This record gives sequence, C-alpha cells and structure tokens, in this order.
Amino acid sequence: MATAKRNTWQKQVIYSVMKELTSHPTASELYDELVKRGYEIGKSTVYRVLADAVDDKKMINVYSTDGNEHFDGDTRRHYHLRCVKCGRIYDSHLQYNHELSKLGELAEPGFTILEHHVEFLCICPDCSMVK
Ligand SMILES: [Zn+2]
Ligand SMILES: [Zn+2]
Repeated sequence: MATAKRNTWQKQVIYSVMKELTSHPTASELYDELVKRGYEIGKSTVYRVLADAVDDKKMINVYSTDGNEHFDGDTRRHYHLRCVKCGRIYDSHLQYNHELSKLGELAEPGFTILEHHVEFLCICPDCSMVK
C-alpha cells in the first residue's frame, strides 16, 4: 500500500516518545503529551501509528481493568500494577511466569495457552504517603 511510508517523522517521534515513557499512555494521553511537547501530529495519526506498531509487534497494547487500551513501548512479557487511587500503571518487576501458562493448559485439555496477563491492583507508594 502507498500509505506504508507516510508520516515517517511522526512515526519516529511517536516511537521515541513511547520508548521514553513508562506511563503506559492511552492513545489520547500520548496525543496530549505530544501536543505538550510542541509536536503537531494529528490525533488520527497517533491512533494509526500505535495500532500499526502493535500489529508490527514494536509495541504492545495493555488492556487494563480500568477499561482503557494503553500502549507500552516495552514489548518484553511483563506484568503490570495499577494504582486504584491515581490510576497510574506501573511495570512489575516480577518475572513473567511461563509455568503459569503451562498450568493453565494442564487445567484445560485441548486448549493451547498462548500467553497470560496479570494486573496487580494496588496503592502505589505516592498514594500511600497521602493520608
Ligand atoms: Zn497511586
Ligand atoms: Zn509495561
């Protein structure tokens, strides 16, 4: 398709900002961040670049139990923590447990488990300090 090479600089900006952010922004939050940094990138471009990045496995989407689709520049398998007070999504340092997928498979004969997702609901240190 002719659209493949379109928006190259926008794509570069989005990729580099996403590498830097560990906040797991939604598309709309990333758009706001880009505007704040002075980039003129259309909202639809942000949505499309993110969707393409997920298709290309350059980023992952994180479906949080907060009901939103977040994006993550870190494509390694990892778990997340969501603070129920401030809503921030953090990366967990707990190692991804491949064993759990195997256990899931043992429990469901005939099913092939591809991956699993864990989101710990928590109160983050910042919010713990606010009494
Ligand atoms: Zn918090
Ligand atoms: Zn993450």
